[in-house]
Amino acid sequence: MPLARTTTPTGQSPRKIGLLGGTFNPIHRCHLTLAHDVRQRLNLDQILFIPTGDPPHKHAVDLAPAEDRLAMVTLALEGEPGLAVSDLEIRRPGISYSIDTVTLLQQEWGASAELYFLVGLDAFLDLSTWRRAGDLLSSCHFVVVSRAGASFTELSRVELLPPLDNVALRDLESSRTDSLVFELPAARRLFLLAIPPCLVSATLIRERIRLGAGLDGLLPAQVESYILRKGLYRENHHLAGFKS
Ligand code: ATP
Repeated sequence: MPLARTTTPTGQSPRKIGLLGGTFNPIHRCHLTLAHDVRQRLNLDQILFIPTGDPPHKHAVDLAPAEDRLAMVTLALEGEPGLAVSDLEIRRPGISYSIDTVTLLQQEWGASAELYFLVGLDAFLDLSTWRRAGDLLSSCHFVVVSRAGASFTELSRVELLPPLDNVALRDLESSRTDSLVFELPAARRLFLLAIPPCLVSATLIRERIRLGAGLDGLLPAQVESYILRKGLYRENHHLAGFKS
């Protein structure tokens, strides 16, 4: 299966590529700020947003159609340097597992690409539930960014990770340092990055739309217009079938 266009303008595969998977239901301002922040700090050539088709961890409640989520990511990334979108998980039938995506991209790009798997701390704390998480950890580098409500010190209880220095984790949590690097199997590395707190979540946006509340710059204007035009997230699926 051919992959989405992911080459640089020169036609060369970028050497250091960040992969940011998510439901992007919808994409919002914090996705963009975290991607730019990580790209700049780790000197990545490109960050590829990969909207998931059939997510293993999220229930289908309120999930907009894959083509709408892909369209919103595409709109949001217009004119954003170094950020691109791939539809590979959406085009792949069945559940989207990160290990399959990383394996596919490695086959496509070979040794010329170094992959960095970007994930928020909230999602990474569930690592042990991911399919073939041990294999994934040794397949690419990991970049875990801070997220309000999750603490780096909780990483010490995540199975599969090598022993992490608790004092260093506390320093990161309390802003005495803004990044840590640990060794993973197969010469991969785990980067823990504290990023400026960004309090937007897709859940918050969907809730505000349902309530008819304003979106006040929580997401790019072109994405907001798309949502309004298509009438996304207006219905309260939580209440479906529970009429009083
Ligand atoms: P939802 O509210 O529906 O759970 P979300 O806002 O977490 O959605 P996702 O599409 O699930 O959005 O996020 C993709 C990735 O971006 C995940 O790894 C998530 O942890 C990370 N992420 C999303 N929002 C933030 C944020 N505000 N700060 C840090 N990381 C974030």
